[in-house]
Amino acid sequence: FNVPTPINEPVKGYAPNSPERIELLKMLKELKQQERDIPMHIGGQEVRTGKTLPINPPHDHQHTLGFFHEGDASHVQQAIDAALAAREQWAALPWEQRAAIFLKASDLLAGPYRARINAATMLGQSKNAFQAEIDAACELIDFFRFNVHYMQELYRQQPESAPGMWNRLEHRSLEGFVFALTPFNFTSIAGNLPTSAAMMGNVVVWKPAYTQIYSAQVLMELFKEAGVPDGVINLIYVDGPVAGNVIFNHRDFAGIHFTGSTGVFQTIWKTIGENIPKYRSFPRIVGETGGKDFIVAHPSAHAKAVATAITRGAFEYQGQKCSAASRVYLPSNLADEILGYVKEDLASFKMGDVEDFSNFINAVISEVSFDKLAKYIDGAKADADAEIVAGGGYDKSKGYFVEPTVIVTKDPQYVTMRTELFGPVVTVYVYDADQFEQTLELVDSTSPYALTGAIFSQDRYAIDLASKKLVNAAGNFYINDKPTGAVVGQQPFGGARASGTNDKAGSILNLLRWVSPRAIKETF
Ligand code: GLU
Repeated sequence: FNVPTPINEPVKGYAPNSPERIELLKMLKELKQQERDIPMHIGGQEVRTGKTLPINPPHDHQHTLGFFHEGDASHVQQAIDAALAAREQWAALPWEQRAAIFLKASDLLAGPYRARINAATMLGQSKNAFQAEIDAACELIDFFRFNVHYMQELYRQQPESAPGMWNRLEHRSLEGFVFALTPFNFTSIAGNLPTSAAMMGNVVVWKPAYTQIYSAQVLMELFKEAGVPDGVINLIYVDGPVAGNVIFNHRDFAGIHFTGSTGVFQTIWKTIGENIPKYRSFPRIVGETGGKDFIVAHPSAHAKAVATAITRGAFEYQGQKCSAASRVYLPSNLADEILGYVKEDLASFKMGDVEDFSNFINAVISEVSFDKLAKYIDGAKADADAEIVAGGGYDKSKGYFVEPTVIVTKDPQYVTMRTELFGPVVTVYVYDADQFEQTLELVDSTSPYALTGAIFSQDRYAIDLASKKLVNAAGNFYINDKPTGAVVGQQPFGGARASGTNDKAGSILNLLRWVSPRAIKETF
């Protein structure tokens, strides 16, 4: 078999009066008019507990989009039981039958589901149309198509044989169930974490962030329509520690596919370590966690390109990307010019709800996030070491709005140069233009994370020096581009150090973690 050669899904532009914009606006209206009752999905059944919690758009927290049914430990157990009951048949299904399901899912998402998944992501996660399109539509379509292609490549990897024998590798799925714990900030990641494991013949218990349930529900409908059999992916809404207590004590826990904070991932890893004698196998632990992603400009950098990278890299989706630029090192010869362009660009950024497509900035995800950001912004206002040169305002009366904020500090170790804020705040340190090499050492040593980073320079020796000095500082390294927006099939995504296990999302390296091969030798 040969699966279709994948190509990246073209991004739609949503120009005024374009058919895609008209359809999306209609869908937004439709979704806003109905309060949805959102059940869990266990073993193909919709499960309603009656214990409901509201879902509100972060940009309009008085509006209710629907209510989801929260489960408890018994539902986690039911989800594990349903997954294990589905396992034998699913694992035995020929791979091309599994591939067909996810190719169908990609076509459904590219066509009939596109407006709905984008609208749900916009309303539930306060993401504008353009950011929703590159995430919930294009990136997830790409994940399905490219992963099916990588799956074929992986299954084709076979050992050598000698005369009188035939050796082969049987790429079995893991013996047990996989737990997918997914974040709010990318609908594509929420879709990819359960499906990349499922594609390889695994059964999955999927727990999304509560702040992403509104679009997770649409994904579950998509999986069903594409033909994912009952019990293969089970969607539960349960408090994290309650779910963890059941999952990580279960003998058949075979792996976790995680995106979230470093702290939570460390706790999970410890818990798994403590419980290790209980498990049938050593579980696969795959996680992408935080970042404190950098932009470094060399004195030879193109000033306007750096400024654009700052405003896009730090503020698209309100800076709520693990990859978002959050600390910037500018050389003294260019700092004023670059900051001038940054302010000019920011003056054109409108902030507001997602239905007005001219708003670049929408709300941050929650009140908790808003309060945390306000605290750091207030700190910078009060602090002699820091100066706010753009933004600094916030208002939660209607939605959780935080202005895109630029802090300039004289202290390269200033708290916002080191702490991941996960919001629209970027901190700039201006270095002496003849201290480039020392600055690279500073970049490398200031943060425990190593997810993304960018170097801007027109000088090839400087690019080479940065590339070498920062060899372990980022899993995704950009030369003369912003550090966000990795494309499946083009820039496999993930970082090391405190940023995760670096099992590159959207690559064969990730799929390898979801198989447990059996080597077979047959003698004739
Ligand atoms: N892959 C995304 C990017 O390159 C970031 C993913 C994340 O935030 O976890 O911007």
